[in-house]
Amino acid sequence: MLDKYRREINYLRVSITDRCNLHCTYCRPKEGISIKGHDDILRYEEIIRIISVAVEMGLVKVRVTGGEPLVRRNFIGFIASLKNIAGLRDISLTTNGILLEKFTRDIFNAGIHRINISLDSLKEEKYKTITGGGDLRAVLRGIEKSRKIGFAPIKINTVVMKGLNDDEVLDFAQMAFENPFQIRFIELMPFGQAQELHARNYISIDCIRDTISKRYKIDEIEGKKNSSDGPAKIFRLREGLGEIGFISPLSSHFCATCNRLRLTADGKLRSCLLSDDEIDLKGQLRRNCTDAELKKYIYEAITLKPGHHHITCAETHLKKCQRGMSTIGG
Ligand code: SAM
Repeated sequence: MLDKYRREINYLRVSITDRCNLHCTYCRPKEGISIKGHDDILRYEEIIRIISVAVEMGLVKVRVTGGEPLVRRNFIGFIASLKNIAGLRDISLTTNGILLEKFTRDIFNAGIHRINISLDSLKEEKYKTITGGGDLRAVLRGIEKSRKIGFAPIKINTVVMKGLNDDEVLDFAQMAFENPFQIRFIELMPFGQAQELHARNYISIDCIRDTISKRYKIDEIEGKKNSSDGPAKIFRLREGLGEIGFISPLSSHFCATCNRLRLTADGKLRSCLLSDDEIDLKGQLRRNCTDAELKKYIYEAITLKPGHHHITCAETHLKKCQRGMSTIGG
């Protein structure tokens, strides 16, 4: 699937629920979230159909996300059935890790061996504050169990915010030094309710990298970067076990190589995380569209994919994304 800028679109991120067991300050605050009813979100069979049709068009890679994917009933049956889609070469999962200890064995046995875990603090009280009450120890137990079971790679995503958790950047780097994890530092993006926080707490990847370089010798892994690394710039920590990654959607965006589409839990196909243009696939499926029609709608979304997004750290007021990440799927 080539878009009009000749980018090969072969990666779909699928949000299977807009529900979440956390309420992260920048993503999904306690108030103001309208949770969809069962009928408003795609059924698993519908998601499988969309993915199967997209695979016929050239899709090879899917990441399952949410909301929190592990809270949706029969999630394990769903990921196991993804493995049966011939041509789908790469399936991975993003989770906040709260339920990971309970499900990690089943996830592994279902054939998914690559996970990303979101973790913004290594301090119990701060983790609680950022996540609206989350239990850090549960996440750390889940990570440890996943490591023992043999997940590889284990990637940890950390959104860094000035004045909130930027004092922990070196602790996270040390975690990568001591463990075979890839810790990825991510810039805060101005979605939905994160817009105010963004104005106050945004910190660029360059600042984070400077802090780390003062303590650790880091060498960029160029050229043979794994395709699963996506837009992250990956560095080895000299003499350490793990790696660190930097993801800078704002200060140095990677739109020119973006290969992604996103399917929201309520069945909208989006071609850019930071644009509100969407194609309503659920509506078409429930009007009994044919596979050929479904392909046409998927192409329509690809046609809408902008050459680049319009948000920079200095210009967040120009055009903002109205949906929060919990409803789009991160
Ligand atoms: N519940 C799962 C989790 O926590 O990983 C999956 C969904 S969550 C929306 C996916 C990722 O989006 C998380 O790593 C979260 O930190 C990130 N995220 C949410 N809002 C964000 C924002 N405004 N800027 C940057 N990252 C954001």
